[in-house]
Amino acid sequence: MKIVETIKEVREQVKEWKKQGLSVGLVPTMGYLHEGHKSLIDRAVAENDKVVVSVFVNPMQFGPTEDLESYPRDMERDAALCENAGAALVFHPEPSEMYEDDFSSFVDMNTLTGGLCGKTRPIHFRGVCTVVAKLFNIVTPDRAYFGQKDAQQLAVIRHMVSDLSFGIEIVGCPIIREKDGLAKSSRNTYLSAEERNAALILSQSLKEGKALVEAGEKDAAKIKKVITDKINTEPLAKIDYVEVVDWKTLEPVSTIDAPILTAIAVYIGKTRLIDNFII
Ligand code: AMP
Repeated sequence: MKIVETIKEVREQVKEWKKQGLSVGLVPTMGYLHEGHKSLIDRAVAENDKVVVSVFVNPMQFGPTEDLESYPRDMERDAALCENAGAALVFHPEPSEMYEDDFSSFVDMNTLTGGLCGKTRPIHFRGVCTVVAKLFNIVTPDRAYFGQKDAQQLAVIRHMVSDLSFGIEIVGCPIIREKDGLAKSSRNTYLSAEERNAALILSQSLKEGKALVEAGEKDAAKIKKVITDKINTEPLAKIDYVEVVDWKTLEPVSTIDAPILTAIAVYIGKTRLIDNFII
């Protein structure tokens, strides 16, 4: 497995592979890889001849008060995980390689990005779309892999690929959880032992909401209330949002009669965690 830091090196390698008629899968990440990321890499390795993993903490998707500086990084461990999983290339650029001083073009979206995480993170999806569009142009993969853990991101990327005719298959992958239910996340490392325990309230509340939907409840307000009440039993938790939205439009629904995304964002202490289920 190769680790490269420049766009030029990625292009040369991918060109070589394409000459040989090989298919290419891309797994975009911000690093500090865990089993969730590994599940994406495993799937990509199973479905493509060559797999590129990008490891880039993208400054453009962080707001001014967010955790860009403190975001966990461990390139050595990440490289080992990628190699063991069978990736062929890791692209680990410096911010200056991705954004030159006079960088001034962005990919923005008018739909899908206003609600859910877009409310508290108003510039986030512009940063995500811009960096993912760049990665698509650099790697030119046949398929790209994204986790349902970031369900809004998955919907936004699918829409961008359709709008801008990228001709790349977007593969959504299920949420990987710890044994006790907590969705795996690089940000879980921020949690103290007490907060780690309190964070279980996310998956537990969603479990109750999901059981209600599965039992036939159609009233979205009731589902939101059950989830909200459960989260509020945890003193360390502060709700950012609890939403039931249409899985296609991401618009809030009042009655459940089509596939829905139930998504939550909750602060546990200072750490903002997200989780969801799709039915
Ligand atoms: P990140 O490094 O957090 O930007 O995540 C990179 C990719 O891994 C995204 O597509 C995420 O949705 C996905 N991912 C992160 N955590 C998980 C998880 N627990 N299960 C499945 N996919 C995940």
